[in-house]
Amino acid sequence: MKKEPIKVKELGASVRAGNFEEVVLGYNEESALAEASRCIQCKNPVCSTGCPVGVDIKKFIYHITQKDYKSAYFTIREKNNFPSICGRVCPAEYQCRKTCILTKKGELFASENSINIHFLERFVGDYGMKNNLQVPQSRDDKPFQSKVAIVGSGPAGLCVAGELARRGIKSVIYEALHKTGGVLRYGIPPFRMPRDILDFEINYLKNLGVEVVLNSIIGKVESLEELSNRFSAVFLGLGAGVPSFLGINGENLCNVYSANEFLTRVNLMGAYKFPKYHTPINVGKHIGVIGGGNTAIDAARVALRLQKMNGIDLDTTLYYRRTEVEMPARRLEIEHAREEGVKFKFLVQPKEFTGDDKGNLQKFECLECRLGDPDSSGRRRPVPIEGSDFESDCDVAVVAVGLNANEILTSVTPDLKLDKWGDVIVNKDTMETSIKGVYAGGDIVGGEGTVIEAMSMAKRAAKAIIEYVLNQ
Ligand code: FAD
Ligand code: SF4
Repeated sequence: MKKEPIKVKELGASVRAGNFEEVVLGYNEESALAEASRCIQCKNPVCSTGCPVGVDIKKFIYHITQKDYKSAYFTIREKNNFPSICGRVCPAEYQCRKTCILTKKGELFASENSINIHFLERFVGDYGMKNNLQVPQSRDDKPFQSKVAIVGSGPAGLCVAGELARRGIKSVIYEALHKTGGVLRYGIPPFRMPRDILDFEINYLKNLGVEVVLNSIIGKVESLEELSNRFSAVFLGLGAGVPSFLGINGENLCNVYSANEFLTRVNLMGAYKFPKYHTPINVGKHIGVIGGGNTAIDAARVALRLQKMNGIDLDTTLYYRRTEVEMPARRLEIEHAREEGVKFKFLVQPKEFTGDDKGNLQKFECLECRLGDPDSSGRRRPVPIEGSDFESDCDVAVVAVGLNANEILTSVTPDLKLDKWGDVIVNKDTMETSIKGVYAGGDIVGGEGTVIEAMSMAKRAAKAIIEYVLNQ
């Protein structure tokens, strides 16, 4: 008999839209067992091929069915350093769930019927965390003298630190901000990525001996060359923290934010608790968010929460050039945003922001679009329809149309070869850059721009770094 997918528990939409509590509550043991029992344990499983780090999905799900959660945890940890994080943020519907045999062939995303691999992974990851399971170290007999510098404490940097620590290699993470975690802390809101999970993973690394130096912008306080002289190898996990803009009139008006600034103010600087926290944020009556990725959805859901928490009638609209199908955001987050009250306007292209006589944003003008032929990304190109201009009230706008490489370090390091987008060029197998002993991974080298992809690159880099320092 066909077993129905097990739904995950969530906070009710009207409650959660007024706070920053975690929305998805995860599986309890009973639901995890029921969901795991739906896995047909294929003879030749293909789900793992959809996972950028190749987690042995069949095996860990089998361990769940046997209630052997410890083995399930260690199975995942062989490939994935942060199961509790990936179980929460992985776009599994484009990855492992899409390749699951229960997804119908030719579907754009995973079928609903495919196994909820990410929720099972989260269940196991949280079990490991609650029970403080320690992954065995594979240290060599003689302690390594080498020390590796890691620049950036996002998922890429943290993953390299974890991999090196497991081999007994010391590392120091240099982070520009006053807190670790990269986008996991300043970008992804706490209602998706609770901070205690992140803190647990970082403390775990610190307990393994990883040192963290905060408020330290490499390229300003110290050059890459100086760092390379002090350490046996360097890993660059600088991320892509520079926002793209639309390039339209009025973009410099007051209350037009980049999503980066908007989310950082709220998530990192606690602006939603202003004046208890010192960073303010302007909460509009009519908020427009422009974009279709995870950043746009996060910004819209944060904006809506700010309206609700400030007693303002909910009016947050997400404007996207294509249709919902082409949105790159996680499907679950789109659904959650809609349930919470975010409105969507598809097939619209921003034309102009206009302001009042004090320079504050007042209106947002757009053109309607139709879908044309596919572009280089394979998605159908939006074609603006002449004469279809329309205007919306808009007193706060958040632009979330892409992020670019952070150039603080790369621009002062001429020997580091970059591509035309400013991303660091690496050997894709070893992640070594044009400078010997300097490796890079994560968003700074381009790619899918997901947490698990950043970790996949980090693991490759760590492997090469270990070989490099062993041969020194
Ligand atoms: P980052 O996470 O960007 O970390 C880089 C770190 O390096 C930062 O802390 C930065 O301060 C530091 N740094 C930069 N330059 C220097 C310097 N010179 N010196 C010292 N430190 C420096 N992916 C998913 O898989 N699922 C999601 O749901 C998802 N949602 C997202 C939501 C938002 C709002 C955003 C912006 C991204 C999202 N992503 C998501 C993408 C994902 O977060 C990134 O792909 C991932 O964080 C990249 O990791 P990273 O380590 O390369 O870089
Ligand atoms: Fe799927 Fe992500 Fe887990 Fe890999 S890490 S199995 S892609 S949820």
